[in-house]
Amino acid sequence: MIASSVELRCFHRCDGVRFAVTEPVYRCPRCRGLLDVVHDVDALRSVSGDEWKLRFAARAGGPHIGERGPKALRSGVWDRREWVMPGLRDEHIVSMGEGRSHLTLAERHGASIGVPELYVKQCGASPTGSFKDLGMTVLVSVVKEAVAEGRPIRALACASTGDTSAALAAYGALAGLPVVVLLPRGKISTAQLVQPLASGAKVLALDTDFDGCMQLVDALAEDGSVYLANSMNALRLEGQKTVAFELAQDFAYEVPDFIALPSGNLGNGYAMYLGLRLMLELGLIARMPRLVLAQAARANPLYRAFREGAATVTPITAEPTLASAIRIGNPVSAPRALRALEETSGIVEQASEEELADAAARADRTGLSVCPHTAVALAAVEKLAKGGTIERHHRVVVVSTANALKFTDFKVRYHERTLDGVRCERANAPIELPATLDAVRAALD
Ligand SMILES: *Cc1c(COP(=O)(O)O)cnc(C)c1O
Ligand SMILES: [Zn+2]
Repeated sequence: MIASSVELRCFHRCDGVRFAVTEPVYRCPRCRGLLDVVHDVDALRSVSGDEWKLRFAARAGGPHIGERGPKALRSGVWDRREWVMPGLRDEHIVSMGEGRSHLTLAERHGASIGVPELYVKQCGASPTGSFKDLGMTVLVSVVKEAVAEGRPIRALACASTGDTSAALAAYGALAGLPVVVLLPRGKISTAQLVQPLASGAKVLALDTDFDGCMQLVDALAEDGSVYLANSMNALRLEGQKTVAFELAQDFAYEVPDFIALPSGNLGNGYAMYLGLRLMLELGLIARMPRLVLAQAARANPLYRAFREGAATVTPITAEPTLASAIRIGNPVSAPRALRALEETSGIVEQASEEELADAAARADRTGLSVCPHTAVALAAVEKLAKGGTIERHHRVVVVSTANALKFTDFKVRYHERTLDGVRCERANAPIELPATLDAVRAALD
């Protein structure tokens, strides 16, 4: 074992601000900035980049939990536990076998948009159907350890556009910890609402939007009533960053030219950057891919800031969008995302309702099955290819963030042609017929 450690530090590295990862603290007490989980990179360097690659390769195929341990665990997050949460005790790991997701070569769709080497990283292929599981396994595990250490944590809580609450409720239930979720009433899909209910969470449906829920849960966490499980909490990002490790491994550490992610609260884009940066620092990869953060045009505060070259993101009121999980006007991780963009020569692109619905329909027809958020990222890549930023020889990865089956409402309405303001040109409705051979034959002709 190598001696490595982690701690929470200020995003702006204010002097003397250091906390144990088990402390319920989410902002710097000096500047009110966000916190980072900071690893002892020098200690990690005592193992060479090539040796890390071999270790991870050896674990990828089978069960893994640390050097030894009673539980057979197949998790892409805990495969790299030294880089995620070193020192966490085996018995506190709360995992459902998340990560190790597939990478699909989207051959036909890629060819149709001028990106022959287009890949989709299937992060929606996960226990609760979204990438949020990757972060939640880390956060809930650390909370389990904190509780075991005697920290008084009454309940875990989050505001959510749907997927965070599904993941938190499930991992909380797995750990036997109480969960409270604050949801914007009527603004998430049926499947997403059912998930935390079924997992037994206390679900508070509020007459506000996500940003309103976020403000409330932030205040509850501040006074210590609950433990905050939103991605403002840096522990989440430690799990989510493992997508970068998996991608690099899948490409034999020759990283793609562009990685596109649908972006709302902006934690995931920063997590991807953190993963890439760590691999760069430890010598596993030689360069940074460019990040493409893709927003719905109706919820695009980062896109606006990027266009204006602004140094900060100005909050807006996000409008309703089919990409409901990224309907966020006041993204908590905006400073983090701006840093990720700066460090990766990143780009922000947006997609209209029509563009995202059409991209989803065309992608689905090539065998993919994409949620509306993933469609936003696909549409963004398509626009960048049209504009010449992405060229034919570039290798591009779109991170698919959720399982499309969480959003059947969207697909049903598309194929029924009942989506407001969308042309639904590729709708494929069932053909209703009498059950006779003649009628069926006629339909086939
Ligand atoms: C949470 C989520 C996102 C956005 O991630 P952020 O970290 O909030 O930017 C994108 N797609 C889906 C399906 C999500 O659930
Ligand atoms: Zn600070």
